[in-house]
Amino acid sequence: MDKNERHKKRAQKQKEKVDARVAQAQIEKGLLLVITGNGKGKSTAGFGTVARCVGHGYKAAVVQFIKGQWECGERTLLEQHGVPFAVMGTGFTWNTQDREADIAAATEVWQQAKQFLSDPQYHVVLLDELTYMLGYDYLPKEEVLTAIANRPSEQSVIVTGRGAISELRSMADTVSEIKDEKHAFKAGIKARKGVDW
Ligand code: ATP
Ligand code: MG
Repeated sequence: MDKNERHKKRAQKQKEKVDARVAQAQIEKGLLLVITGNGKGKSTAGFGTVARCVGHGYKAAVVQFIKGQWECGERTLLEQHGVPFAVMGTGFTWNTQDREADIAAATEVWQQAKQFLSDPQYHVVLLDELTYMLGYDYLPKEEVLTAIANRPSEQSVIVTGRGAISELRSMADTVSEIKDEKHAFKAGIKARKGVDW
């Protein structure tokens, strides 16, 4: 058997396996996706999914639990396409380390998140950087997990951020842990507009 024939045989076998697995997946429901870990790409993946959703004509909503240093490009683009953004008003006070102010800001934006999570018109809701709110106990864990669990059955939710708590991982349908193998910042390269934000 020559190389091409062998390749064809292998590809055929592979296709049979994939087809069988595709045929097995019969459940249709909104998903909970958790994108966590220390590597770059968590929010990027979340916004990529929102773009997919909007591209298909569905509605999506975004909640940003940590306001970045810069106005992110995704917001400008997606708001033009009717995606509502709820952003933590005061930003996150890493610098002042004012826990009470952080909790107040988190609580306020959480009220908007709850509305999105109870509204079936949203096909996808991105809860960007929510993991920190749970990790630091800035938001009541039970209330957050219950709101996510009780969302409309067709709605998918994406949670991003490092260090997702175990409860969130176990209730999720899909969990991706992005590994930090290398990051430009560590080599002294500045975060880049249009790439990093
Ligand atoms: P991105 O928004 O690029 O997808 P992320 O959501 O995975 O990144 P965050 O922890 O939210 O990561 O960090 C946001 C910012 O920090 C981005 O500008 C990103 O490039 C940068 N960053 C992400 N991971 C790392 C890392 N491992 N080391 C240094 N900087 C990082
Ligand atoms: Mg992020």
